[in-house]
Amino acid sequence: MPELPDIAAYISALEPLIVGQPLLGVRLTSAFLLRTAQPPLASVEGRVVRELRRIGKRVAIGVEGDLWLVLHLMIAGRLHWRPQGAMLSGRNNLAAFDFPNGSLVLTEAGTKRRASLHILSGEEGLKSVDPGGIDIFSSDIYSFRIALTAENRTLKRALTDPRLLSGIGNAYSDEILHAAQLSPITLTHKLEPHEWERLYASTLNTLELWIGRLRAEAQTGFPEKVTAFRKDMAVHGRYEQPCPRCGDKILRIRYADNETNYCARCQTGGKVLADRSLSRLLGSDWPRTLDELEALKRR
Ligand SMILES: [Zn+2]
Repeated sequence: MPELPDIAAYISALEPLIVGQPLLGVRLTSAFLLRTAQPPLASVEGRVVRELRRIGKRVAIGVEGDLWLVLHLMIAGRLHWRPQGAMLSGRNNLAAFDFPNGSLVLTEAGTKRRASLHILSGEEGLKSVDPGGIDIFSSDIYSFRIALTAENRTLKRALTDPRLLSGIGNAYSDEILHAAQLSPITLTHKLEPHEWERLYASTLNTLELWIGRLRAEAQTGFPEKVTAFRKDMAVHGRYEQPCPRCGDKILRIRYADNETNYCARCQTGGKVLADRSLSRLLGSDWPRTLDELEALKRR
């Protein structure tokens, strides 16, 4: 699922292309994509794009009149920039947003249709799709700690809960925890002050590092290869490969439709965490599926 750095890269690639341009029209091939009835889709057509924003893991395109097109890519949704009027013939093509200089096309791989489009009005409308997690870049260590300790959760669950922290999913939480040298199953109420400092700094640094990398890539061309598995990642998607810090093999905890990767020597004091039985034991303290996490709403 595209996370904060991926969404940031999409937005920085799209800004020079569509801000100031009129949205000539929207073509949908799947009626299911659009999840709102009011304001109608036609109300955004012909309006000039004013600004782009990230709302959690969503891309929000704001047009004149404070109307917003909000796209959630979920797991397999991706954006593409194609020549104006690009055909939507393949079954993965769900929508095209036509501008005078090109078309922004939304695709979704696979058979499940989870990506969504909301047409919303004003700040109130945007708030209705915002799970409410804090933005790490406008938070200090105190608000970070308050957000993550609202409930006694495993670090993995707390970092990926969109009600607590904005924009972080399975991939970047693995990277953050490895950078912080903390176990994914440590409970937030057990964390020592020096560990909070490490976790906060690692969250900021990891996201800054990846936003920088992905934005730099987006300068050279529209981000067509958005993936949760990047070759320069330290642990995520690197099961059985050597840890870049200590050289030990990366381990995993598997659960429903996903896995967490970690290094035992660097993060758990050498302790191997058993997989399926562990996630059963942790119950609600462990993210079961990505869909389930994304369904979490503001309290
Ligand atoms: Zn290691």
